[in-house]
Amino acid sequence: MGQKITVNSQGHLTIPDNPIIPFIIGDGIGPDIWNAAVRVFDEGVRKAYGGVRQIEWKEILAGQKAFDETGNWLPDDTVHAMKEYIVSIKGPLTTPVGGGIRSLNVAIRQTLDLFVCQRPLSWIEGVPSPVKHPENVNMVIFRENTEDIYAGIEFEADSKNAQQLKEFLTDRLDVDYPFKEETAFGLKPVSKDGSTRLIRAAIEYAIKEKLPSVSLVHKGNIMKFTEGAFKNWGYELAENEYAEYTFTWNQWERLKSTDGEQAANDALRRAQQEEKVIIKDVIADNFLQQILLNPKDYAVIATLNLNGDYISDALAAIVGGIGIAPGANINYRNGHAVFEATHGTAPRFANTDSMNPSSVILSGVMMFDYLKWHEASEVIRKGLEKTIRSKQVTIDFYNQMEGAILLKTSQFADAIIRNMNN
Ligand code: NAD
Repeated sequence: MGQKITVNSQGHLTIPDNPIIPFIIGDGIGPDIWNAAVRVFDEGVRKAYGGVRQIEWKEILAGQKAFDETGNWLPDDTVHAMKEYIVSIKGPLTTPVGGGIRSLNVAIRQTLDLFVCQRPLSWIEGVPSPVKHPENVNMVIFRENTEDIYAGIEFEADSKNAQQLKEFLTDRLDVDYPFKEETAFGLKPVSKDGSTRLIRAAIEYAIKEKLPSVSLVHKGNIMKFTEGAFKNWGYELAENEYAEYTFTWNQWERLKSTDGEQAANDALRRAQQEEKVIIKDVIADNFLQQILLNPKDYAVIATLNLNGDYISDALAAIVGGIGIAPGANINYRNGHAVFEATHGTAPRFANTDSMNPSSVILSGVMMFDYLKWHEASEVIRKGLEKTIRSKQVTIDFYNQMEGAILLKTSQFADAIIRNMNN
């Protein structure tokens, strides 16, 4: 009999040996990749714990399947189950055309207030990459998931609201800007709480995983009160609450101006020897160069919503593309988490048993790590790595690899299971 995962007021989870985990199978290629992935998950758990632990999967509905069965794209029962069972996993969902829902994913993130979009980006040996040294990328992105220009506060050009906003800005706020006719507006809310809860999660992750740095990626040179504030709040948080564990570039700057560059560099070196997390900041456009030029310099990335969107895809391309990049949306305050394939439904390939299930499998690996079932995540990851190293791959990788063996989605899962623990 399965049991519920529970969470205390500090956001710490208690995981029973038979947790009930809701899953959304997803639309398009969702059923193909989920059916492959779930076999890998169950076998990984069995191999790791010999039957002592087992997941009880509970299907919940969203997307096209939900609409066909209930007339609702995201039924209340689904959202309720995601809250009640704390941790869930999902395949890709069709974005309904028309009808008021912008995106089901956004609706899930907003309803559950999943403020961190977490994406680990590292290369698996053998995966085709457009760069010479993809092994140098080893980063985890913490992208703010609820604010920024993505909040959806937009006014269409020439609408009454856009006109009123223009007048308000000019007449009441004395904004001196030559607004043109037919101007549309989008607002960019960035709050101290929204920023610090995201950066706190990134710093705590770096401390827990013994990673060398957290980089605050921003465009604060231009957008001073939003992105600039994000950076400042990040430094403030590190210095006020994590002084024992961190050393910031702000501290380095202050030391340099009071005691000279030599003293500042000595302090930085000492902090590195003591394995403190170095908190630094990078302007977003420069960062997009740095991930190609000096990726080894970066470990944990904390960034705002729009920057995070671009950066996640740029890094995903380096380590193998959307067929393999996993992700999760997490509220680190109350423990609620939804693990997910990061690609879409690829509807042309639905029911072809041909697409790569690695994205959802690796999001399951993230989920097992989140549950502290590290043995299971290790077994699955090794099985996947060995399968790719031996060039047994699905069509997306097959097309880019010399001498590879083409497998169907289901056969790829069989190969991973065979390759676990040997
Ligand atoms: P997509 O990611 O579905 O597909 C783009 C292309 O990427 C595909 O044609 C295919 O060549 C490749 N691809 C995607 N997944 C793959 C996999 N697992 N293995 C191998 N190759 C893969 O993007 P799209 O076509 O822009 O979107 C289709 C639908 O998915 C839309 O309704 C969109 O809104 C939705 N979508 C959902 C999510 C999500 O649920 N997280 C994310 C993005 C898009």
